[in-house]
Amino acid sequence: MAKVSINLATGSLQKEDLIVGIDLGTTNSLVAFINPDGNPQVINDTGKGLLVPSIVHFNGDGSVKVGNEAKEYLISDPENTIFSVKRLLGRSYQDIARYRDFFSYKVIDDNTESLVKIKVGDKFFTPIELSGFILKELKERAEHALKTPVTRAVITVPAYFNDSQRQATRDAGKLAGLDVLRIVNEPTAASLAYGIGLNPEEEKTIAVYDLGGGTFDVSILKIQNGIFEVLATNGDTFLGGDDFDRAILNYWISENKLDAEALANDQTLTQGLRLKAEEAKKALTTQNLYNDALKGIPLAISKNKFEELISEKVQQTLDCCANALRDAGLKPEQIDEVIMVGGSTRTPLVKESVAEFFCKAVHDQINPDEVVALGAAIQSDILAGNRSDILLLDVTPLSLGIETMGGLMDVIIPRNSKVPTKAGRQYTTSVDGQVNMKISVFQGERDLVSENRKLAEFELKGIPAMPAGLPKVDINFLLNADGILTVQAIELRSGIKQEVEVKPTYGLSDDEVEQMLLDSIQHAQDDVQQRMLIEARTEAEQMVYTAERFLEKNLAFLQENEIVQTKNHIEALKASLNAGDKDLIHSKIDELNEYTHPFAERVMDMAIAQAMKGKQIE
Ligand code: ADP
Ligand code: MG
Repeated sequence: MAKVSINLATGSLQKEDLIVGIDLGTTNSLVAFINPDGNPQVINDTGKGLLVPSIVHFNGDGSVKVGNEAKEYLISDPENTIFSVKRLLGRSYQDIARYRDFFSYKVIDDNTESLVKIKVGDKFFTPIELSGFILKELKERAEHALKTPVTRAVITVPAYFNDSQRQATRDAGKLAGLDVLRIVNEPTAASLAYGIGLNPEEEKTIAVYDLGGGTFDVSILKIQNGIFEVLATNGDTFLGGDDFDRAILNYWISENKLDAEALANDQTLTQGLRLKAEEAKKALTTQNLYNDALKGIPLAISKNKFEELISEKVQQTLDCCANALRDAGLKPEQIDEVIMVGGSTRTPLVKESVAEFFCKAVHDQINPDEVVALGAAIQSDILAGNRSDILLLDVTPLSLGIETMGGLMDVIIPRNSKVPTKAGRQYTTSVDGQVNMKISVFQGERDLVSENRKLAEFELKGIPAMPAGLPKVDINFLLNADGILTVQAIELRSGIKQEVEVKPTYGLSDDEVEQMLLDSIQHAQDDVQQRMLIEARTEAEQMVYTAERFLEKNLAFLQENEIVQTKNHIEALKASLNAGDKDLIHSKIDELNEYTHPFAERVMDMAIAQAMKGKQIE
């Protein structure tokens, strides 16, 4: 049962587990929640509209405006008005250098691989901070409209976002005072909004076509057992509704023979025309003709003309769809459902072309600019446990484990495990008095860690000095639903612990995952041989160590020939180590064992007898 409490500040009833869903878009952002009747709904903070333009304006006096109020400054104060910050999120300067000219504000070029910064006046901001402003605005709107504190959210990102971009989104949420429970792919959210994938029994392959303000992307998803697997993504990061506006603007300029230079010098007129162009585009989704004027300039365009102007752009999006299908190894007929996302899919030509391409009717019943936020709200409802019948799962593509003696991979979470998941194992020290233990975390399918991918390394320090084998070190792996791995090492006797957090898929492409799997199959036999050799060697080294310590400690209890013979056996074992023959090593281990066994027992008894004299055993 959901907990209900009363908010003392507002007097309103407050459901403690309210989690909002946020679509943090390049052009527009939205926040949605599940309303009391159980349906998702975009939050409308009175009079402010559903969409919050993803724009931040900095005033000279230090005040910050977000959304429509900031949008007004795009033309009058371009240097201090930040738009499209999503394009910079989690990016280095090198990533974005190609399209540096796109931004009218200062993106700092430090020529490094570190994340970009934006200069506004004499202040520097990171894209995380700027996105944080937008998220904070959304949070406040939600709080104002719902009259309850909002501290938890699910935020969506494009399916192609890498881990650095996902982490940046998460960090932006944190800055805005939100606990980001999950980062969800936009196409997954859109699919949820249409109820596709909510039934764990259903198996479907879907295409999500997302044409927004400045970006286009298409994702092919396979939904199975409640798992949304991204089969392929494709798109164009500089293709969207803005291009449609520009096409209309250019058409009017040429129709009216307007002077390009004069226009460049009259930003107010240009901006006015641009807004009219967008208005015309929107009108043409339901009308066949748009007719208006601005400052005596006639502004008319027919739907036919508009479609002619944008047909090439629309064709480009279909080419991307074809590429995505090719990458997924599918034909258009194999796609079960097509979902339309993004404000620009309202344009009839877009809808018709996509339907024709995939040979089926597309899903366009839900507002395309709201559908992602609505799906995010459903995801948040699932996380809140209000839809306990549904569990969204993901699988980990590669095994996760740690390095053990001899550079071997000890798998703790095997590949294809459903996440979230946790697993652990107990380890001990290999040397007497060992106080530090190095823990190296790897990912991959090979038996040797040197062939796998290192994710992290840390040291568990301050283990109390004990004989080898006595400390008990539990190593626990916790892989959360976002694929973030927490590795914790704890020495049970002393309680000391240490932990690290890593993102195993960071910087890893699907191709690389595939290659790693292929390698492991190809090398399976060699790997087994090598593992057995290393295990034999490790056992031998351990044995040599113990035997030498044994001699040292118990000289007094041994006869001269026993000492000499034991030493000979130890030397023989040592000599066998580098021959690369595990059977030889095993035979030498056995010989040493057999030789020392009889007197080892005798010595033990004597040593214990000696020790007991001084100590009382209770
Ligand atoms: P993003 O995901 O990039 O933040 P949106 O999904 O909000 O963007 O899409 C914004 C784009 O949708 C803008 O270019 C806007 O002009 C366009 N758009 C909104 N309504 C319509 C409409 N009725 N017809 C055509 N395009 C529209
Ligand atoms: Mg969008």
